[in-house]
Parts: sequence; structure tokens; C-alpha cells
Amino acid sequence: MKLIDLHTHSTASDGTLPPAQVALAAAQAGLSAVALTDHDTTQGLAEFLEAAASSGPELVPGVELSVDRPGGGSMHMVGLWVDHEEPRFKQGLERVQTARKQRNPKIVARLQELGVDITMDEVVAAAGRGQVGRPHFAQVLVDKGVVAGPGEAFGRFLKRGAPAYMEKERLNPSQAMELIRGAGGISVLAHPGLLELHPAALEELVKGLKEQGLMGIEAYYSEHNPATERRLLEMAARLGLAVSGGSDFHGHNKPGIRLGAGKGTLRVPASLLAGLKQARDALSG
Ligand code: AMP
Ligand code: ZN
Ligand code: FE
Ligand code: FE
Repeated sequence: MKLIDLHTHSTASDGTLPPAQVALAAAQAGLSAVALTDHDTTQGLAEFLEAAASSGPELVPGVELSVDRPGGGSMHMVGLWVDHEEPRFKQGLERVQTARKQRNPKIVARLQELGVDITMDEVVAAAGRGQVGRPHFAQVLVDKGVVAGPGEAFGRFLKRGAPAYMEKERLNPSQAMELIRGAGGISVLAHPGLLELHPAALEELVKGLKEQGLMGIEAYYSEHNPATERRLLEMAARLGLAVSGGSDFHGHNKPGIRLGAGKGTLRVPASLLAGLKQARDALSG
């Protein structure tokens, strides 16, 4: 069976492989297609798309946007086949970048109040050339021996509800889907299983999103168990949504997750591409 991976991260956000190497690794894994979907940024896409080789996988330009979750908190929307040069889409991402830049120093200040010796410069250094995200704060905390590992960093300090968690302004789902659509892409609800909603509540949420432009759901995902995967496939069929899937590969930042194979058992069939492209082409038609 031919396989694809439509959810990956590079050094442009919080992954550890540069964008071109994500494309290369996908070729080595024998994948038919791979999407780069960095968090809230398309900075890696030019390099990623240039890595195209005649025999390599189809390279899909993407993004993963954090959006408001109805009832509080956030959820993730993946955009596939986005034109990252489209002006309004670019502007939208710039607003998101600003929100992030306003949040990050607040996390540092809070950690300092909690008695942790940390500076913004150290976090920026941990992010390298990429965008600063919470995993980089976690990395600094680990390097300094404040915590034993990233899990403890999130649990004690960084996760929602923990003392150094700081809200950042986010797009609402309809704004995000509009930006993605305006850039020629399709919107897919990322890892619905992680929302931990009762099946009926999840279906209500997805129905509402579909009315606002949602085109697909990520049924295949590293953290979905077989029962969740099956329920999501059934839901997509019932609601007339396309099905997507990916590993959420982050390189060494998520050591258990392999490109195209997740924790070793993920299989995202290349046959999904047809339905996703049909959804994409229906938008421009
Ligand atoms: P940010 O976009 O800067 O708020 O960071 C979000 C990223 O942090 C997510 O994409 C995950 O990679 C990571 N993350 C969020 N929550 C946790 C957690 N509880 N444990 C480990 N990593 C997490
Ligand atoms: Zn991430
Ligand atoms: Fe996500
Ligand atoms: Fe992701």
C-alpha cells in the first residue's frame, strides 16, 4: 500500500529537521506525499518545496493554525495546499506572529517570578532560526536541570492551567478557515481525538465547523487508537467530509513519532489524496 504523511513539523516551528530534510526523509521512507504543516508559520515552505525531486514524494505546502476552541482553550486546524504568498493569508499569519511575540516574554517573566533562572535570549537561542514555541521553553528548563524532561516542564509549568501558562490571542475557527481558503487551501480539523469529546459532542462541533468551511478531518493520527480512527472515518463519511492523516512528526522533539509511521503502526493510505484534492478543486471551481 502506498503511504502518505500530511502532518509534519520542521525547524521553522518546533521540529528538529530543516524543511528540506523533512522532504528528503519522506523520500527515504518511500512516501507518495508529505505535507509540511508548521505551527502558525509558513517560513519553511519555500525551502521545503524546492526540495522536490522528480522521483520524490508529492510535496504539499501546509500550515497548522491554533484556533479558539468553543468553550475555551484551543484546537488545531491544518491547512493543505496553501499559497503562502497570498497577501491576506500572509497578513493573518503576521497577526498570529505578533500575538506569539507578545506572549513569550510573559512566560519568561512568570517563570522568573516562580524563581526559575531563565531569560528570553536563552529561549530564542533554543528555537534557532525558527519560531519560538513552548517546546523551546521546555528545552531550556531541561537543559538547566530545572526539570527532568519536557513532560515535566509542561506538567509543572507550561501546559494550560499550569502556573506559567499564558494565553495568546488566537484566530477563531472561521477566520482561520477563511484565510486558508483565500490562499487556495483546504481546512482539516487536526487530531480530533485529542479534543477528548464525547462522540456526539464532537460530531456537533464538526458539523458546525463544516458550515463555516471545514473540508476534512484528520482521522489517521499517531495518538488515535483504532476505535477512534474507525469512529472518525465513519463520521467523515456521514458528514460528507474528506479524510486526512499524518504523524505529527517533530524529529527528536517527539522521539516516539516516526515520519509516515507514527509510533510504528500508523498507515495513512495514499488513496486519501484523491478525496482531498477533489475538495480543494471544488473550492476553486
Ligand atoms: P505553542 O504553540 O508555543 O503554544 O506550543 C504548542 C506546542 O507545545 C504543541 O504543538 C506541542 O508540540 C507542545 N505541547 C503542548 N502541550 C504539551 C504537553 N502537555 N506536553 C508536551 N508538549 C506539549
Ligand atoms: Zn509542535
Ligand atoms: Fe496539533
Ligand atoms: Fe502538529
